[in-house]
Amino acid sequence: AFVRRPLIAGNWKMNIDHMEAIALVQKLAWTLNDAEHDHERVQVSVFPPFTDLRGVQTLVSGDKLSIDYGAQDLSEHDSGAYTGDISGVFLKKLGCTQVLIGHSERREVHGETDEQLNAKLSAALRHELVPVLCVGEGLEVREAGNHVSHTLAQLEGALRGHSAEELTELVVAYEPVWAIGTGKVAGPEDAQEMSAAIREKLAELYSREFADTVRVLYGGSVKSKNVASILAGPDVDGALVGGASLDPEEFANIISFEK
Ligand code: PEP
Repeated sequence: AFVRRPLIAGNWKMNIDHMEAIALVQKLAWTLNDAEHDHERVQVSVFPPFTDLRGVQTLVSGDKLSIDYGAQDLSEHDSGAYTGDISGVFLKKLGCTQVLIGHSERREVHGETDEQLNAKLSAALRHELVPVLCVGEGLEVREAGNHVSHTLAQLEGALRGHSAEELTELVVAYEPVWAIGTGKVAGPEDAQEMSAAIREKLAELYSREFADTVRVLYGGSVKSKNVASILAGPDVDGALVGGASLDPEEFANIISFEK
């Protein structure tokens, strides 16, 4: 069977300025170093605000730290009259290797649609940025029992028209909106159920071989005390961590989980 390298990703959201970013990444790197973290075994990445990326790049490349980084969003366009937007061209030049697409806060606060996210996914692929595609249902959908179909529709909407060849390295993050920043964690069974459903859908849309290579993360109030049980599910390949990624020791403890 295909062995998927776990990924623990930190989404800083709109926290941490460019000075604080240097301190946070440095502290994280030291803590991982002290813990003799095996970067080959578990990949670590952070998603700072745009204004922090240059500082993070300088630090990571200068110190040869094995931490990947990416942006929290990108424009579907490469350049032009799009005031306030950021191009994948710029992100690539800053050494970003990944980019979040369709975080629930982008969908909610900025009204990003599946169609737009489909175009953003194209932009990420055009610039060789690994897309971390975020999907997941809100509380009402969960309570009505429609969480699987809702989440899979988001997945299909974003992927439509993209081939398996283009999507190598795709990461999908399942983030139930009711569990983000609320302290409510989906149960390990919920995380496994949805991760397996996502993988099944990928097998149906593409192939089993492709589906087996895609990493599916869980996100929503992940902490060091609950990470091991969530990642115990065979289809859960890592975590997207919001609040807890702002504390380097806590984040390092999450990274050091035993699977
Ligand atoms: C997130 O923002 O992707 C997230 C999962 O946040 P939190 O861990 O704070 O719930």
